[in-house]
Amino acid sequence: MAARVRDPPLSATVALRDEAVELLRELIRLDTVNPPGNETLAAELLRDYLEESGVVCELYAKVPERANLVARIPGRGGPRLALLSHTDTVLADPAEWEVDPWSGELRAGEIWGRGALDMKGQAAASAVAVASLAREGFEPAGDLVFVAAADEEVGDGFGLSWLCEEHPEAVRVEYSLNEGAGDRVELGGRPFYLCSTAEKMSSPFLLQVRGRSGHASMPGIADNALVKAAKLIERLGGFTAEPRVEPEVAAFMEVVTGEPAPPADEVIERARAVHPLAVELVEPLLGMTVAPTMASASQKRNVIPALCELTVDCRLLPGQGHAEAEAVLRDLLGEGDWELEWIEGYGGTRSPLGGPLWETIESWVAAAEPEAAVAPICLAGFTDSHWLRAAFGTVAYGFFPMRYMDPQLATRLVHSADERVRVDDLELGVDFLRHAAQAISGG
Ligand SMILES: [Zn+2]
Repeated sequence: MAARVRDPPLSATVALRDEAVELLRELIRLDTVNPPGNETLAAELLRDYLEESGVVCELYAKVPERANLVARIPGRGGPRLALLSHTDTVLADPAEWEVDPWSGELRAGEIWGRGALDMKGQAAASAVAVASLAREGFEPAGDLVFVAAADEEVGDGFGLSWLCEEHPEAVRVEYSLNEGAGDRVELGGRPFYLCSTAEKMSSPFLLQVRGRSGHASMPGIADNALVKAAKLIERLGGFTAEPRVEPEVAAFMEVVTGEPAPPADEVIERARAVHPLAVELVEPLLGMTVAPTMASASQKRNVIPALCELTVDCRLLPGQGHAEAEAVLRDLLGEGDWELEWIEGYGGTRSPLGGPLWETIESWVAAAEPEAAVAPICLAGFTDSHWLRAAFGTVAYGFFPMRYMDPQLATRLVHSADERVRVDDLELGVDFLRHAAQAISGG
């Protein structure tokens, strides 16, 4: 692998910074709130921008208004790298915002608007990286692919899952970079850049608790399903899985402590000795989690319910199946008048740690901030990286460096009011993505 670091001369970088700012502002001004999405607006803007630099573009759409864009600089059969992003956003309530969420306002070095962090910023930076390389006559060994997918936030089958199924040759790649991590955190006095290499599986389930109805004026003659459910809710609320050290947690602890990973029951304690944030990062990764979030019972005040339905958010470790989780839950809940039904299960894939893409991220971090290191994490949430891992075994990481904005502020702003990105971080992202393209697809 060619370890070419920080290639562009300063003047080129300054121009690319402005280019990314303008493109992001234009993207934010397009309302792609999902539902309904209307991502074709963003796909066409990005296509027009990339075509100006001679990049080959193709729109793929299940329905006309929800297009995905796939653009590429063709290679010569070497390993392919996709710069992956999604163009839809969650909704925004203008009343909660300091600025119009679709203004793309530039204010004190920050670009404001829905999607600035999640994830039109990375989409713009990826497009600028690809366009600038194309203008420089970049001839990659393997295809450099830019994917701006629709429908990530809802997942109704218009976006990357559909592309993988219906147009696999358009998106088949060996490596990909997507959202998920890249935040710079300080743990134990040393900076680390987080890279997400795995995701937990989202597996919500329904718990139907049965009793017998009756008039609420005579509770003794009925069997109240809501009251019975209370005991189960309490057990679910108090659940902590038997801790397990998965590869991501082992590698995280090793890099952060500089020592071999501790046994499972000592991870929390050792993480706490480093920094409270380290505990926050590893705790959900030690096992499955459950959180009861919705309940419904009687529709009438004076009728004792015969049925209470609980919806429980549940996240499994990558590779952990429903059968294993159900055995744990049966043990937790005990015998009773309840039935468990899995609603769905999606995500839950991982990519190996190490290898060319990992080394590429390490070499970039080493050049950008020599005292920093890269630390892997498993996401508790879902990203489109899952689809590429599942369909093609792609080594798919989430990494978009964020050095200047406080990661805790960024976490608060995503899907919330006053979302914004620092222009310095956007520029850093362009620099990283160019580096990655040159290292993976280069010469
Ligand atoms: Zn996102």
